[in-house]
Amino acid sequence: MREGVATGMMASSRKNLALQAPNGLALPSQRSPQGAAEETEMEWNAVPRLQKDPHVGHEPERYDDLANLEYPAALYSAMEQYLPAHLLKAARDKKIAFLERIWSKYRPNGERARKHREYREIIRQNYQPLHENLSVLNPEEFFVPSFRSAIADGSNEAIRQILIEHSPGVFSFDMLEPSLCSMIIDEVEHFEHWAQAAKVKVMRPNTMNKYGAVLDDIGMENMLDQMMTKFVSPMASVLFSNVGGSSLDSHHGFVVEYSMDRDLDLGFHVDDSEVTLNVCLGKEFSGGGLFFRGVRCDKHVNGEAHPEEALDYSHLPGRAILHAGRQRHGAKAISTGHRANLLLWCRSSEFRELRKYQRDFSSWCRECLTSKKEHRHRLSNTKRRQAL
Ligand SMILES: [Zn+2]
Repeated sequence: MREGVATGMMASSRKNLALQAPNGLALPSQRSPQGAAEETEMEWNAVPRLQKDPHVGHEPERYDDLANLEYPAALYSAMEQYLPAHLLKAARDKKIAFLERIWSKYRPNGERARKHREYREIIRQNYQPLHENLSVLNPEEFFVPSFRSAIADGSNEAIRQILIEHSPGVFSFDMLEPSLCSMIIDEVEHFEHWAQAAKVKVMRPNTMNKYGAVLDDIGMENMLDQMMTKFVSPMASVLFSNVGGSSLDSHHGFVVEYSMDRDLDLGFHVDDSEVTLNVCLGKEFSGGGLFFRGVRCDKHVNGEAHPEEALDYSHLPGRAILHAGRQRHGAKAISTGHRANLLLWCRSSEFRELRKYQRDFSSWCRECLTSKKEHRHRLSNTKRRQAL
């Protein structure tokens, strides 16, 4: 996280800061000052960090009136003084999300897995889906004809023909039929109602979203696995073979929801995936677009974006975005309505295993490539000098 950015920023000074490039990132020139203001409030969600020195004199809020906390209420109050300055006056749900993301790193994996298994078992035994047909992939019913025929053809040309490449490595294409979009939204709503009535605490899709549901947990795991294997993999093999796109073998499928009474936005981050499919399901909304800032390895994740990598994208229902998981991105605040998106994080165990032994990611990280070139340049200069 770049603490220099949001930290120490007072609400009243936001307007001035908005015009500067935060985080050392190159801002697209057409960006409105308001859009930039939203971004100065975001931090790198990939690495949330507390302040080393407490804000002495900060009056913490109480949390004991809240029912669904993961940890004891007093712990939230006690940790408040270590929050980054820009979060001290934030709404409680923002502070809770931030703290729980930090604490979740210390929860043993075994315990998390056991809790998840129990949760899925409760759903499997008690939840009656609204649309049973969502458990089986039905390409004719689910996908628009242009997408189906491109995949059936399978050639590089046929696949590229249905795509728009908005910035390097960010592709969009028409994918889902409107009827499928509504069915998924209705199913998630139906599940939320059931969970509330049954007093089952919904396990959220990731540590950043407080709303939404994991589709794999509510009967769609096989369907989404088929979707990945038969429909996403052929595209990913063509477009993302350098980041594991041709060896995808597992997925995490979920819906995220944004509205005034749900999550509003999503800070700058990278996904825990090799390739991410993100399809807008609807409903009616304004604002809430995505912004992208280029692909980077762990070491270079905070690096500057080049002007051609900076992209602002507006969602269209039924239309999918496909990008590398390491593509840095976030979602801007929604201004009206309700937006729901289907996310399919596609992973490759082969790519992950190989990555452990690598230090140089110049085949896909622009900064690795630049430092490699500079190194070679220095080396050849030295050799030339020695030869003289
Ligand atoms: Zn790199």
